[in-house]
Amino acid sequence: MGFSAFRRWITMGKRIDLTGKRFGRLVVQRRVGFRHHNTVWECLCDCGNTSEVSAGHLKTGDTKSCGCYYRERIKVININHGLRRHKLYMVWADMLQRCKNPNRESSKHYHERGISVCERWKDSFENFLEDMGPRPDGYTLERINTNGDYEFLNCKWATRTEQSRNSRRSKVWTVHGKRFESSYQAGKYFNVTNGAIRIWCGLGKNHGKINIAKPGCYAYLKYGTGV
Ligand SMILES: [Zn+2]
Repeated sequence: MGFSAFRRWITMGKRIDLTGKRFGRLVVQRRVGFRHHNTVWECLCDCGNTSEVSAGHLKTGDTKSCGCYYRERIKVININHGLRRHKLYMVWADMLQRCKNPNRESSKHYHERGISVCERWKDSFENFLEDMGPRPDGYTLERINTNGDYEFLNCKWATRTEQSRNSRRSKVWTVHGKRFESSYQAGKYFNVTNGAIRIWCGLGKNHGKINIAKPGCYAYLKYGTGV
């Protein structure tokens, strides 16, 4: 044994045995050498890769994986960054703002009407994207029932004309002396379907015959005249 090999042998012997110890994702397997006054250990990473790491880097926590941790982080950062720049990100963020922020003047009526964003969309832009799909050019996010929540079944991409037509057609419902913004809301209150509310208000036909409204039940257009 030459002198340097002897010195290395002595020094390695004095070093703490790290075999079996875990550092982040790495579990130390065996000594493989000596570099820059440091024992080098072969480590098995949780991802299945092996890598050689000096004891110094293990102990200071500089190295906690074979490199896979950083590769994953960079991927996540890139994805988040990419999604934030997605053209629908602001649609999603606006929707949350409208329902969440009572201080914003424009969101007051959403708040007062109890309109909220479903749990699935609240926490995740990805879920929103997945459910709604790409937005056709010139379309905006619209709730089918304007008193309902922002949720998959109640949302669609609509053109502005469709939206204004919808609001033009929107009615005010008076049912047994109570006023409602929609038949849906009235139905919820009286625990019947919105179809039943329409019948109560004398709308639609029943077996070809025009429904006769119940006393105290009627609907009228919110804007303009007629039903
Ligand atoms: Zn790894």
